[in-house]
Amino acid sequence: MPDGTPARTLRDIPGLIAAGLARASDRAALEAVAARYAVAVTPAVATLMDPADPADPIAAQYVPHPDERVTASDEHPDPIADEALSPVKGIVHRYPDRALLKPLLACPVYCRFCFRREQVGPDGGVLTEAELADALGYIAARPAIREVILTGGDPLMLSSRRLSAILAALDAIPHVESLRIHTRVPVAEPSLITEALTEALATDKALWVAVHVNHAREVSPAARAALARLVARGIPLLSQSVLLAGVNDSEAALEALCRALIAARVKPHYLHMLDFAPGTARFRVPMERARALHRALRGRLPGHAIPTLILDIPGGRGKVPAGESHVARAGEDWIATDPWGAAHAY
Ligand SMILES: *Cc1c(COP(=O)(O)O)cnc(C)c1O
Ligand code: SF4
Repeated sequence: MPDGTPARTLRDIPGLIAAGLARASDRAALEAVAARYAVAVTPAVATLMDPADPADPIAAQYVPHPDERVTASDEHPDPIADEALSPVKGIVHRYPDRALLKPLLACPVYCRFCFRREQVGPDGGVLTEAELADALGYIAARPAIREVILTGGDPLMLSSRRLSAILAALDAIPHVESLRIHTRVPVAEPSLITEALTEALATDKALWVAVHVNHAREVSPAARAALARLVARGIPLLSQSVLLAGVNDSEAALEALCRALIAARVKPHYLHMLDFAPGTARFRVPMERARALHRALRGRLPGHAIPTLILDIPGGRGKVPAGESHVARAGEDWIATDPWGAAHAY
């Protein structure tokens, strides 16, 4: 930011206007948005924004927009039915072998397209000791659960002490073989990835960290350093990105994102189709376009740099790959389409 980085997290509209990140003429509309959905822009992401660019792909993700006041008819407050799949507070259980554990609902930043935007916010939604014990009891009582995914909110917003207590409790459940943490912290507040925090992540189980990042510029030097601190602890890193109009919906933007991730030792894992959360219509990329963009990555990037295009079927029906197949039946034969679009018999 040319005006200098704000010293602390911006959490209201006047703060965003003063920092040159929102227009004073939008104030009333943005106040209405902020009354409904949480707002937070950390100094780390504010520095990545160019206030002079009205189409800035970083600002678009974090700065509220007047259009968020409008909920489209196909949008839903709980687009993938977390609520219906929640047997006890803090748990979402859709697949027999995997369960989500949401220890809190606060995040370092609030993404304008978040599918849990009706739930997340600075008030925290932290599970009480009793609720956490119930959630852990649910997992302990179900031997079919082999992986626990810590999500939220952002689990890396917890204190190191609380995080290590949760991981220790999961360590003690024999049928849980691996853990995953879904987080935006390495991008949004890299300074939180301290020595104490990485120490708190020491666990006997295999721990994977999935980092939410949507634009190459978010893989900043500070974010790379934070990711390197996790790698130094032997933690494998995956990415989760959301395909977003105005942020990363071009071949060049997606290629740059995947290359930046690989260079930071993060395996590009999922490229999500946007969920139908309220007030997010401006970010939608049609399926046809999404598949064309995804197809274009093949042949442009190393195989391990290509994420799976993934659709979370509305209503909690599960995640499925949405990309095109390169191989199709043709009578007795198969036809394979090469990365440049030519068809070949197989
Ligand atoms: C996304 C999700 C998972 C994890 O799915 P993966 O494909 O393994 O990443 C598990 N449970 C729920 C409820 C989910 O929404
Ligand atoms: S960090 Fe994740 S949970 Fe938090 S607002 Fe962004 S998308 Fe939602």
